[in-house]
Amino acid sequence: MIETKPNDMNDTDPAESFRDRIATVDAKGRRNWVYAQKPKGRFYNIRTWVSWGFFILFFSLPFIKLNGRPLFLFNIPEAKFIIFGKIFWPQDFFIFGITMVTFIIFIVLFTAAFGRLFCGWVCPQTIFMEMLFRKVEYAIEGDAAKQKLLNKSPWTGEKIRKKVIKHLAFFMLAFIIANYFLSYIIGVDELKKIITEPVSEHFVGFMAIIIFSGIFYGVYAYFREQACTVVCPYGRLQSVLLDRNSMIVAYDYKRGEPREKYKKEAEIKAGDCIDCFQCVKVCPTGIDIRNGTQMECVGCTACIDACDKMMDGVGRPRGLVRYASENGISEGKKLSYTARMKFYTALLVLLVGLLSFLLISRKDIDGTVIRTTGMLYQERGNDSLSNLYTIKIINKTIKDIPVNLRLEGIEADAGKIELVGTNNILVKQEDQASGSFFIILPKNLINKRKTKLQIGLYEGDKKITTLNTNFMGPFSRL
Ligand code: SF4
Ligand code: SF4
Repeated sequence: MIETKPNDMNDTDPAESFRDRIATVDAKGRRNWVYAQKPKGRFYNIRTWVSWGFFILFFSLPFIKLNGRPLFLFNIPEAKFIIFGKIFWPQDFFIFGITMVTFIIFIVLFTAAFGRLFCGWVCPQTIFMEMLFRKVEYAIEGDAAKQKLLNKSPWTGEKIRKKVIKHLAFFMLAFIIANYFLSYIIGVDELKKIITEPVSEHFVGFMAIIIFSGIFYGVYAYFREQACTVVCPYGRLQSVLLDRNSMIVAYDYKRGEPREKYKKEAEIKAGDCIDCFQCVKVCPTGIDIRNGTQMECVGCTACIDACDKMMDGVGRPRGLVRYASENGISEGKKLSYTARMKFYTALLVLLVGLLSFLLISRKDIDGTVIRTTGMLYQERGNDSLSNLYTIKIINKTIKDIPVNLRLEGIEADAGKIELVGTNNILVKQEDQASGSFFIILPKNLINKRKTKLQIGLYEGDKKITTLNTNFMGPFSRL
């Protein structure tokens, strides 16, 4: 149910006027506040159960650890990401990039097949708005009609009491969500420090909690459906992602039109839609689903429940508003698996295969060896030459590892590695370390300008990985 203003008159054909602007903005660009009536019905019940599953996951995941690490961490400021307990550094960015591309292709494919199922059922914005904040609002201010009445009424003690309780509850919920949101970025251990230690020691973290709380409060108390209809890029991409075979929440205009108010005992000459506007009154984005597929529809199914209830009431079959495709309704076709979807699926399988390979073959310890620039070889006594190198080692595990280096790829004991100032390189957990070393080779082994060598990285006697490098000798054979 939308609050319209008297001068909000449309200057185009009333039947098409809904296309002039989004439903929540009037002709002068002012916000039309949506008073969504509380949905009731089977889809709303199932969505409630789904939302409980979501809440359990959302509020428990930050506490779940795998091998001492959070299961998920998206530490954007430090460019550190943990996915299913595996840590990803900037050096793994290509894996992360492929994960993101896979995810985007999955969304494209999924949307082409199932429309906005994600938005209506599992999008955090919809779940928090419809299944948490909206329910708190219903509990404090009552259903849509009572909310509208309360907003229009003068500021009495009762109104102040309700508004204060509601906004305090909203801010508390926003504060809790902000804390959990932050725990996905910095981890619960860091969050605990911000909460328990003096503010002066974690001023940035403390400010982040306050700012996030303010943003969440603003979004759920005021911005609401605008996040889906104006800001969300996924919502705005619907027009290119959906086709006539995509599954959407749709009004069966073949069956419903021409609509006519329900009259008892009347002979049914018109369509099944009794023009009761119940589907419009429950819509959280304020649209009329009977106008066809619209960008604002988040697929929440509230209109399906509302219409089914009306159809039950007038003794007509359910499903006047239902999950269907455009073709399904206009031509009586079933949902089909189109060539475009097959192509997306093939691409997705390919990318998931590549991603799995990269994840499985990814090393927990990795490094790079660079020969010191600007230096050629050095004479070592009468019979040997040396090259100077620097090595950088990344430790993606959660234990400190002392790494020693061994020369490989040439005859055993023919050459050696000499670390500068140490016997091994200690690489702290989830950190990186660097060092310098010489490779010393006897002259009789050097028969070309560039000799390929391998360096084994060992933890004690356990080989971790092998790195490749070159040994530079003189231009001519010695
Ligand atoms: S049209 Fe129906 S499914 Fe779409 S947002 Fe409105 S109530 Fe939800
Ligand atoms: S709820 Fe059903 S019957 Fe009522 S207006 Fe909407 S589509 Fe028509």
